[in-house]
Amino acid sequence: MPMTPLEELRHSCSHVLATALLRIFPDAKLDIGPPTDTGFYYDIDLDHKLTAEDLAKIEAEMKKVADENQPFLRKEVSREEATEIIKKIGQERYKLGRLADIPEGEKISFYQNGEFIDLCAGTHVRYTSKLKAFKLLSIAGAYHRGDEHNKQLQRIYGTAFPSKEELAQYLDQLEQAKLRDHRKLGRDLKLFVIDEDVGPGLVLWTPNGSILRQELQNFISEELRKQGYSQVFTPHIGKLALYKTSGHFPYYKDAQFSPIVENDQLARIATEGCSCAEMTARLDAVSAKFADEINRRAGKEIIARDRVKPDEMLLDGFLLKPMNCPHHIKIFASQPRSYRDLPVRLAEFGTVYRWEQSGELNGMTRVRGFTQDDAHLFCTEEQVASEVLGCLSLVKVVLTTLGMSDYRVRVGLRDPDSNKYTGDAANWDKAEAACRAAAKTLGVPFTEEPGEAAFYGPKIDFVIKDVIGREWQLGTVQVDYNLPVRFDLSYTGADNAAHRPVMIHRAPFGSMERFCGVLIEHFAGDFPAWLAPEQVRLLPISDKVGDYGHKLLGELKAAGVRATLDEHSDKLGAKIRRAELEKIPYALVLGAKEAEAQSVSVRSRARGDEGVTPFTVFLEKLKTEIAARALPEKAIKPSQSKETSAGSP
Ligand SMILES: [Zn+2]
Ligand SMILES: [Zn+2]
Repeated sequence: MPMTPLEELRHSCSHVLATALLRIFPDAKLDIGPPTDTGFYYDIDLDHKLTAEDLAKIEAEMKKVADENQPFLRKEVSREEATEIIKKIGQERYKLGRLADIPEGEKISFYQNGEFIDLCAGTHVRYTSKLKAFKLLSIAGAYHRGDEHNKQLQRIYGTAFPSKEELAQYLDQLEQAKLRDHRKLGRDLKLFVIDEDVGPGLVLWTPNGSILRQELQNFISEELRKQGYSQVFTPHIGKLALYKTSGHFPYYKDAQFSPIVENDQLARIATEGCSCAEMTARLDAVSAKFADEINRRAGKEIIARDRVKPDEMLLDGFLLKPMNCPHHIKIFASQPRSYRDLPVRLAEFGTVYRWEQSGELNGMTRVRGFTQDDAHLFCTEEQVASEVLGCLSLVKVVLTTLGMSDYRVRVGLRDPDSNKYTGDAANWDKAEAACRAAAKTLGVPFTEEPGEAAFYGPKIDFVIKDVIGREWQLGTVQVDYNLPVRFDLSYTGADNAAHRPVMIHRAPFGSMERFCGVLIEHFAGDFPAWLAPEQVRLLPISDKVGDYGHKLLGELKAAGVRATLDEHSDKLGAKIRRAELEKIPYALVLGAKEAEAQSVSVRSRARGDEGVTPFTVFLEKLKTEIAARALPEKAIKPSQSKETSAGSP
């Protein structure tokens, strides 16, 4: 695919970065320097560990290279000449490997700017002086070719924009993002921890974070009930055979935890002296009967003969579930279904486990165990369109409530020139039309992306924009014609004959971990009252109003409000600061006058000092705000604010 002008600009910066780097560190060995969605990087191998000061030096040198107004010159060469050039410039360590990646018959080209020459297919801007607004941002470790077994290189990240204004805007956004970082806020607000002893990428939800998650789950569950879903619970593991039927094993085993082998079988193969390689092969294998059955259902050979082993060689085990689908399928299949029962909508906050490389892990947003807001819908072909629409309207309600009204959807369609897709063309046409029609009715921007469908059906992805303009890919809705075949699902139609249902997989928010991570950043930890782990803090000015504090605490708790009483002996100012740091939506100051009048002095996190109010009035307003799941800025209407007695700014 040709580069966009912005990618060209950013990629040209990679070359200029390498040019400057080699002027300062002539021994650096270069790997690759592609553009990214937000900038560019270059992976380099250098004994010296780069520091922030080095980055500043390199960036200053890059400015010089830009000022030198060097043209980017392309030179096409033969493979032999390419090898010669790479050796001549002393970049054999990685560039020879990169040269070998270029398929026979494809053009091999170098680009030269000034003294620097790099193996590259292009393209670039014409002169280095076109690079007017760039910045080096950070250094990170990156394994050569993304493989943990390879050497870890230093990756220099930078960004570039066509104008200085756009760069400044982006840098400001980065600054804000730092303040909102869910890993930092997660620690500060005690929302979650990740403990190396439990395992990297495994989130421990602490009491505060658990409240946030539970409130969200309650909210989503309410909406699901309105839409006619049934809640189910399923175990965290399932037999390997289940995933061999679904096709999740062994095809995706790089992304899964290794299987759990049953104790007696493990003991048996240990006495046989079975090797690890043999054990793996036996776990992957299936019986002839199993292969025949799946192939018969599919109508073609989807399980190859080389996976078949004699029954006595087979090894059974369990998989930590990578997906919830097979479990839900078994619930659907557990009783005869008629067309009158459809659609069957099974929902579960289902925890799944995936093996992510440790370098890919990131707070709550890239983890190894996560709970999907999952559901599987089993319906007739005629129902696909309305069910997809139902999924989308659920997303709309939830995102709007959370103040995330800026989002777009991507409709992934099949690539008409590819034959990797299962199912017949007529079904595909119908499903794609259904997804497209559903996306249209949403009233938000959507793009159609041919080639982005899953192999078993079209899908719709949600990409939300948070308050500082960053995009987050959340979950997805997928139409599936494949698994109902593999599991031989059926229902009885009005014609009394057996029909195949269509399945829809949907996890619109992805996972609770990822969604909460995004929410923490979206709200910068300032949650609306309904989500806040602690909604109200009572701040008595002195011990004398301690009894009044306890009385109000009791009333708040009785009303279901999450409240605490700050009985520390320090000054009111310190108590207020603490409540602010912990981002408590409401702090109520209690003095002798308030106790006398059964009132409270209200400090709202969102709106500041709201003056003195009768406690009962405050409580009623708060209950309304929580029940309405109101956003902070919406919480108070001009008509309501009259109720406060004291003049607040
Ligand atoms: Zn290039
Ligand atoms: Zn699924």
